[in-house]
Amino acid sequence: MPLETKKTNLEMFLGQNQIQNLDSRYYFYGISVAFFIIFPMSMYRFYTNDFVIGMFDLAISLLLLSLSISIWRRKKVQYVNYVVFGISSIFMLIIVSVKGINSFMWIFAFVGIGYYTINKTVALASSILLSLASTLIVIDQITTEFLVSYYPALILLNILLYLGASKSENQQSLLFELATIDSLTRVKNRLAFNEKLDDLSASLSRSNQTVSIMILDIDHFKKINDTFGHAEGDEVLAVFAKLIKASIRSSDSVYRYGGEEFVVLAYNSNLDSAAKLAESIREKVAAFPSLAKYDLTVSIGVTEIPAKDENATSWLDRADEALYLSKKRGRNKVYLALHDETSHTDSYQEYAKYFNLESSLENKDEKIVSLNSYKA
Ligand code: GH3
Ligand code: MG
Ligand code: MG
Repeated sequence: MPLETKKTNLEMFLGQNQIQNLDSRYYFYGISVAFFIIFPMSMYRFYTNDFVIGMFDLAISLLLLSLSISIWRRKKVQYVNYVVFGISSIFMLIIVSVKGINSFMWIFAFVGIGYYTINKTVALASSILLSLASTLIVIDQITTEFLVSYYPALILLNILLYLGASKSENQQSLLFELATIDSLTRVKNRLAFNEKLDDLSASLSRSNQTVSIMILDIDHFKKINDTFGHAEGDEVLAVFAKLIKASIRSSDSVYRYGGEEFVVLAYNSNLDSAAKLAESIREKVAAFPSLAKYDLTVSIGVTEIPAKDENATSWLDRADEALYLSKKRGRNKVYLALHDETSHTDSYQEYAKYFNLESSLENKDEKIVSLNSYKA
């Protein structure tokens, strides 16, 4: 079961880290372009002896230059949005106080930038504050005629941009759901699993959380399709997924990894408690009334995700090795894959305690153990 390494655009879009990476490229280009527009403008101001505005423009362009360098190096954009927007608003007010009412049309551009870059509610609030402050700064130049065209236009712009931002948020979450939920079983799909695994690789290296992973593969599923037809096979998959979902805690998650293969991530769960969970799932599947007709059984490979420097592929490979053994040794079994840091003897004894099994150990070096093989 090889782990996919090359990502599609959709996967790139869905992964938060990738979004930042992708965004950072656009931001880098956008901010660099802004630099190349504003920097010559500042030179022009100096040329026309407009030193005050020239200094402001120069300061903005230098800020843009340092931001684009920072984005290039750090690949993070969220803080940049707020920095750019906050500082631009201050400059906007300064420009209004120097240039007067003629510079007001720039406020529309700033409102647009706000909705594009930062949280829509913060953008709305800043838009109101910026407009009120600007109006107060040039209150002696303002005519009624100006007010009755400026404010309605600004309000309309805010409404449209706010609605647009909400719509885009909704579409994004709908797209995320469509792309990450398996339509047959209604559990998360492999794309979601790969994303989660990436997140775990990153977050576990910074925390002491213990997560266990199990791969569940229905035994002889092809026979069910052959005997009862593909449509009934589909139903069995849906019932099976529901059963797993009902068997795990709400904080755990189940993914459909492939055809009749599922993965469960059990959070704050060491190998011993994950083994217990796997064994209970195996027993439930074998005894579940609505599946009785199909003689359905499942083989499960379990491992703990503990070591800080390990990578996601080896977690999955280890669980897969255990699954492979449970298939090879007769199916309808739970196998546990230990890792180098597991104290084997202790773990065996732990399992024995949990499952009332014989605690004797035949082969202390074996890294994959069967729960069932210890049953008296
Ligand atoms: P084993 O015990 O070794 O796992 O045997 P198996 O038959 O379960 O495994 P195998 O990988 O040989 O076959 C899996 C079958 O699952 C083959 C495929 O037709 C079926 N399958 C995969 N996805 C679906 C699906 O969405 N619906 C249905 N009905 N069948 C599916
Ligand atoms: Mg199978
Ligand atoms: Mg399979």
